Amino acid sequence: MLTNSLVELDRRHLVHPLSSFHGHEARGVRVMRSAQGARVTDNEGHELIDGFAGLWCVNAGYGQESVVEAAMAQMRELPYATGYFGLGAEAPIRLAAELAERAPGDLDHVYFTLGGSDAVDSAVRFIRYYWHSKGQPERDQFISVAQGFHGSTSAGAGLTALPVFHEGFGVPYDWQHKIPSHYAYRNPVGSDEAGIIAASTAALRAKAEELGPERVAAFFVEPIQGSGGVLVPPKGWIKAMREVCTELGILFVADEVITGFGRTGPLFASEEEGIVPDLMTVAKGLTSGYAPMGAVFMRDHVYQTIGEGAGQKLIGHGFTYSGHPVSAAVGLEVLKLYEGGLLDNGRRQGARLQAGLAGLSDHPLVGDVRGRGMLAAVELVTDEDKKTPLPAAALEGGTRLFDRAYENGLIVRAFAQGILGFAPPLCCTDAEIDEIIDRTRRVLDLTLEDPEIREAL
Ligand code: PMP
Repeated sequence: MLTNSLVELDRRHLVHPLSSFHGHEARGVRVMRSAQGARVTDNEGHELIDGFAGLWCVNAGYGQESVVEAAMAQMRELPYATGYFGLGAEAPIRLAAELAERAPGDLDHVYFTLGGSDAVDSAVRFIRYYWHSKGQPERDQFISVAQGFHGSTSAGAGLTALPVFHEGFGVPYDWQHKIPSHYAYRNPVGSDEAGIIAASTAALRAKAEELGPERVAAFFVEPIQGSGGVLVPPKGWIKAMREVCTELGILFVADEVITGFGRTGPLFASEEEGIVPDLMTVAKGLTSGYAPMGAVFMRDHVYQTIGEGAGQKLIGHGFTYSGHPVSAAVGLEVLKLYEGGLLDNGRRQGARLQAGLAGLSDHPLVGDVRGRGMLAAVELVTDEDKKTPLPAAALEGGTRLFDRAYENGLIVRAFAQGILGFAPPLCCTDAEIDEIIDRTRRVLDLTLEDPEIREAL
């Protein structure tokens, strides 16, 4: 179909996620037509490198035939089976077992969801069940981290600490609390790693003290904060926060929706941190975007406690599509691809990506380069010493940077505060990583010529 008529139909009928309705209508949709490996082609025939793997999810890359085959075979044989009434299907059972075998420690019990937001909401409910079962229903307060993102359904949006997900929705709820982020580049306590760890552990203790430690149910954290601008905590930060939680008897939840499935190197980032969370949420790379699916992992003690507390009573939480057989078949195949070489390639290319982006530090607009593995960000400033953010007029909510990159054959995330986010597929070649770096430099050079930036320099 002609692009123009699609743009018009989109304008009239399709409501886009995280969009301003009328702003989107004015800009119009860019229609993606096909994709292979790390490259996407749009309806106009422009070929781009997808430096963001869709929405940090197509970790295995596009065009993986074996995944297509697995989905087709599952659709033919059994497109759907409910998990209600004691029924089930082979693919979700096998996927749960394969994942449990690979997850850190005894995170042996898996509840499947449709994506990350409902995985977070499910975790909140399981945690409440857990404390009821323990005979401590007063433990109903939740703590998360400023700049964190945990989804946009109700409970997840409240744990999220980005104002755009709160305004007008009555969230965060009064049982949801935040502590400051570790954000090293703009931390009021400075960038010293030990200082940041000390400040964060003190903030968590102080928040627990303020709420009453016996009232705190859980602490939610991303191993690397994604949607807040790819904020990487200092080495040892996660472990130190885990230790405070253990000491205070607070459940520790690692939200690995972005960091899971090879994004930072290992299958799960918690592995690298040497911790075992009490619960862990995943999505995105679980199916590499070929089908929607997320999951909540529970450690054995969490699962057993909930089970004992409930006895023969039903736990009132369930989705029609929990453990969808087609998504599960996709997940099983994607896991094979990760272990058949993609994780190794991702680690190699991750090092290349980080080194390449670090090489952009000499650019006058680059204030900070950070990341781990195939997850990275470049934070732009007009004054390196003062760390002055780019003027809002030169950002237009990030769209100017996004458009400039797109017009130069690169898809990246352009955060509203002037941060470029990178999360390429793990299948990238050396040449593709180098192209991402070259095109990013071009975007930076063109940004330097923007009249609104010139004025601010
Ligand atoms: N948690 C984290 C850490 C995320 O990054 C996201 C999505 N970017 C979510 C939860 C929500 O996932 P979904 O969009 O699949 O609902």
